[in-house]
This record gives sequence, structure tokens and C-alpha cells, in this order.
Amino acid sequence: MSDPVPNASIEQLGEIFRNHDSFVIMSHVRPDGDAIGSQIGLGFALMAAGKKVRLINEDGLPENLAFLPGSEKIETPPAEPLDVEVAIALDTATKPRLGDNVLHAASKAKVLLNIDHHISNPSYGDLNLIDSHSPATGQIIYNIITALGLPLPAESRDAIYVAVSTDTGSFQYPSTTAATYEMAADLIRRGLDVGTINSKTYDDHPYRRVELMRALLNTLQLSPDGKVASWELKDSTRLELDLRPEDSEGLIDIIRAIRGVRVAAFFEELPDGKIRVSMRSKDKSVDVCKIAMQFGGGGHSLAAGIRMAGPIGEARAKVLAAVEQAI
Ligand code: AMP
Ligand code: MN
Ligand code: MN
Repeated sequence: MSDPVPNASIEQLGEIFRNHDSFVIMSHVRPDGDAIGSQIGLGFALMAAGKKVRLINEDGLPENLAFLPGSEKIETPPAEPLDVEVAIALDTATKPRLGDNVLHAASKAKVLLNIDHHISNPSYGDLNLIDSHSPATGQIIYNIITALGLPLPAESRDAIYVAVSTDTGSFQYPSTTAATYEMAADLIRRGLDVGTINSKTYDDHPYRRVELMRALLNTLQLSPDGKVASWELKDSTRLELDLRPEDSEGLIDIIRAIRGVRVAAFFEELPDGKIRVSMRSKDKSVDVCKIAMQFGGGGHSLAAGIRMAGPIGEARAKVLAAVEQAI
């Protein structure tokens, strides 16, 4: 193991923001609420400070986050590299998870900032701010904005709240701290409408998501000792139900919540034949990030993911064997 790279200070990031005019802000493929919310949060703060900012994501804006004010600024990467001075990766555990087209679009930037909360992040930026104790990248963005006295427009306020809410299971996971609730309180004082934003985040799903739940339930398996629950999604089901990648977001919490279950795992066959694995642990002594890293994935100790070779049956068997081993 090489020595850990020291983090940049918020003041050093502030210097980069002050000394440059043009920025591209990026996040991981198949973006979630924390990825998109952090992009909008930092992006609109820098724009309000007079900077030129582009927000790009390999897969664009998921439909379930289109209610966020400012989300129309999220673009898929342009074919030609952007003329920008600074590139900023948010919520992205490894550089390749930004996506090939995003990396090409950002290739002219002179500086790469890497701001994230994944413990597995190898600090691939020129300047890095990795805080694995932060429950969401959105909370790091909030700390940066407030510490530097940057503007916090309504777009940033709402997006940061959704980033943190979605990555903490609505402020419930053990990563949630007093600072997280203090941040939420401050955002509410700044005018955030709690009822409306939670309703748009959690009570507005397309019907096909419930049909997906039915399909997943038909593949549900519980290990004989009751400690491991898993289910899977075949690509044929995606086609049949006309699913979008974000439709499965959060469904793993249903099997994670089964009494006695310590690890929940979700296996999804992707259109390119690769298998996406999502894992959740309910037990501090079972670190799913370590299990994911055995297969080239990563994440956090209680929530981690993998992209691995198929076929899906083999991937499921291999990963579940590693989970049993860890338990
Ligand atoms: P997910 O199950 O997709 O919600 O991901 C759980 C956590 O693991 C998130 O913080 C992801 O960013 C991270 N993660 C998911 N897939 C990967 C991967 N292939 N490599 C590294 N980190 C991942
Ligand atoms: Mn994320
Ligand atoms: Mn995150």
C-alpha cells in the first residue's frame, strides 16, 4: 500500500476557485441524487460567484431528478474537449467511473479536483478532498460553500438537501451526524420547502417501478441462515417493462430491512453484458466495501458496488460466496 495522499484544505480549493474562471463539474456514471445534487450545488454557487461553469455527466440527467431547479444545466459530454481551466470530479470513487466521454471532454483542464466521501477513493486528483466520514458528497459541498462564504442560491440549497437526503436514506443511516441535521436546519432557514422537496424525491415514482418490484420479488432468495438476501434483474425484464436505470434506486432497502438479514445484494444484467452489483450491510462487522474491492468495485463499508463480468448466475454465485465468507 502506498502512503495516503494528504487532503487539500478548503482554503486551497478556495484559491483555485478565485484564480480561475472556467470550470467543468462532473460526477459518476449512472448518477444518483448525491452525484447530481452535488454538481448542481457547487455549480450554481460558482455561477453565482461569476464563474463560467459546465455540468456534465456520462449518462445525463436521470428523469427522477428532473424536478430539481437547475437540473436542466446537466448535459451529456460534448464530443470535443471543453476549453476549461479546472475540472472537478464529485462523488466518484475511481477516475474511470466518470466515463470515457466525460474524461475526454475534460481533458484540456489544467487542474483536476477530486471531492468525494468514498473510503476507497485513491485520491486521483491533482488536489483531493476525501472525507469518508461525510455521509454524502453534498455535505462536503455545503461545508466548502459556507466556509468560503460563496453564494448559496436556491438551486444549490435544494440540490444539496436532496444529495444528502438520498445518500443517508432520508437522514437515517449511521453516517448521519449532528452536523448533517444542522446543515438541514440551516437549509430550511434559508427557505427550503421540506414537504414539497421530500414529496418530489420520494412520493412520485412511475408505475413501472412498482412493476419492477414485482419482477424482483420473483427472484428473491434468502440464505439458509437468513443472513443474506438477494434478488436480480435480467436485461430482458428491463426491455419488457421499459425501465430506466434510476428505477431501481433504493429498492435494495426493502430486502436490507428483512429481520435477521445482515447483507442485501442486488444483481443487474446491463445491456453490455456486464453485471452491476449493489450491496448493503446492516452489520458494522461486515464491510461490503472490502468485498466489493475483491472484485474491482468499491464504495463505503455499509454500501458498496461492483461492475463485473457475467453471466449473471455466475456473478451472483461468486459474490454471494464472498459474502458468506465475510460473515
Ligand atoms: P449503489 O449500490 O450503486 O447505490 O452504490 C453504493 C455505493 O458504492 C455508492 O457510494 C457508489 O458510489 C459505490 N459504488 C457503486 N459501484 C461502484 C463501483 N463499480 N466502483 C466503486 N464504487 C462503486
Ligand atoms: Mn453516488
Ligand atoms: Mn455519495
